Amino acid sequence: MSEERLRIAIQKSGRLAEESVELLKNCGLTISRGRDTLYGRVQEMPIDVLLVRDDDIPAFVADGACDIGVVGENVAEEDRLAGARETPAELVARLGFSRCRLMLAAPKEWAWNGPASLEGKRIATSYPGLTRRFLAAAKVKATPVMMKGSVEVAPRLKIADAVCDIVSTGATLDANGLRPVATVFESEAVLIRNPASFGPAKQTIFEAFMKRVEGVMASRE
Ligand code: ATP
Ligand code: ZN
Repeated sequence: MSEERLRIAIQKSGRLAEESVELLKNCGLTISRGRDTLYGRVQEMPIDVLLVRDDDIPAFVADGACDIGVVGENVAEEDRLAGARETPAELVARLGFSRCRLMLAAPKEWAWNGPASLEGKRIATSYPGLTRRFLAAAKVKATPVMMKGSVEVAPRLKIADAVCDIVSTGATLDANGLRPVATVFESEAVLIRNPASFGPAKQTIFEAFMKRVEGVMASRE
């Protein structure tokens, strides 16, 4: 019988990648990576590491291709709101890194009178679910326009009137004649898991892993 291993998905490269590896390192886990660019193996515990694009992580975890994953809460929550899966991945821990904000940004020349200023407008975003939820809570009727990238150019191209995007410095918005006007979602890296129950061997590995993660989180407080 082959030895049971827990599979964790982390971002291969990008804003989550380094700190995800760092988290594992702080858990006392080292990843050995051979020639294979997709898989890594943890030496100290029966854990395999899958190195993938962050956008794929919620689906991989929800569908069981991986047992757990580290991803931005913005991406996990958007996937959940999209409702494409009967049982989406479950959030098990907040990890405190890769913090960012999903913000509405409007043309600088707009007189901003709160979310009501968006009534009847088109909003370019890669996060239509989170945007829609914000608009509904604000009782504003506006239309999210899905864009995968370069969201901030949409108003200049007249594809949309405003945008809802991840903001770090605001420099990109500024360069496109936009300014942030409201926070839609505050995000940080989170640990998610497959919603189905694990078999006993995998559950034991999962619990041992979570104990280490909780130890790391507690030492940071
Ligand atoms: P991939 O190639 O894996 O698809 P990506 O370009 O989609 O990567 P990154 O830019 O690496 O994604 O961002 C990954 C996550 O990092 C975001 O979803 C978000 O949770 C977080 N993040 C933290 N700070 C920022 C920021 N300034 N801009 C964008 N995302 C940020
Ligand atoms: Zn991505």
